[in-house]
Amino acid sequence: MTDVERRTALEAIAAEVRVCTNCRLHETRTKAVPGEGDPETEVVFVGEGPGFNEDRQGRPFIGRAGDLLVKLLASIGWRREDVFITNVVKCRPPDNRDPQPDEIAACAPHLRRQLEVLDPAVIVTLGRFSMATFMPGARISQAHGTVRPVDPATGARSATVFAMYHPAAALRTPAIERDSYADMAGVPATLIASRARRESAQAPQPEPEPEPETTPEPETTSAPSQATDDATPQLTLF
Ligand code: SF4
Repeated sequence: MTDVERRTALEAIAAEVRVCTNCRLHETRTKAVPGEGDPETEVVFVGEGPGFNEDRQGRPFIGRAGDLLVKLLASIGWRREDVFITNVVKCRPPDNRDPQPDEIAACAPHLRRQLEVLDPAVIVTLGRFSMATFMPGARISQAHGTVRPVDPATGARSATVFAMYHPAAALRTPAIERDSYADMAGVPATLIASRARRESAQAPQPEPEPEPETTPEPETTSAPSQATDDATPQLTLF
């Protein structure tokens, strides 16, 4: 998929999100928040849902939690424009309550389609509701800073998930803020490892050694080579 095709596909999803009425959260939102970032990125950050400021402006992570996310990214030399940032629910839960399971389920197709378009190498989850989507059964106090392969059913065909606390939790608790900086320091190495795994999976398989010709060979048909359906992803970081 070309850069233009990705941008067009992401904007089409965003346009659907802005008028979506698939769950009760549309009744109380000011603006839906589809997500934003570099369509060619290899890294997608997924939070829980929009807050007060995000609901007003229709952009993800722009309040104090967003400021901290920008600082966390800067600690590894990245900018928010280098990645794609979105949430598991695209509309603000009233009074910043937790998103409900039926709301997350209703919104999941939007996230799945975004991930199908972006085809990230790494998904960084921010908070337990995002983590539960990509690391079912994990507890964030134990899973933060760790990785797992991503289930392709999420839309991400070949990705590694890296769990982090939500920046809002880091704002409330200094120990979590320290953990968040330590966790973020592990994201670049996760990207390098995931990038290598994806390139290895796309590399052509070696030709099998020919059999010694001890008897006349019967006529055979060679197996078709495995087609690769994707171009090597653009390496936009590092
Ligand atoms: S939260 Fe998601 S499913 Fe619910 S109305 Fe908003 S965009 Fe639609």
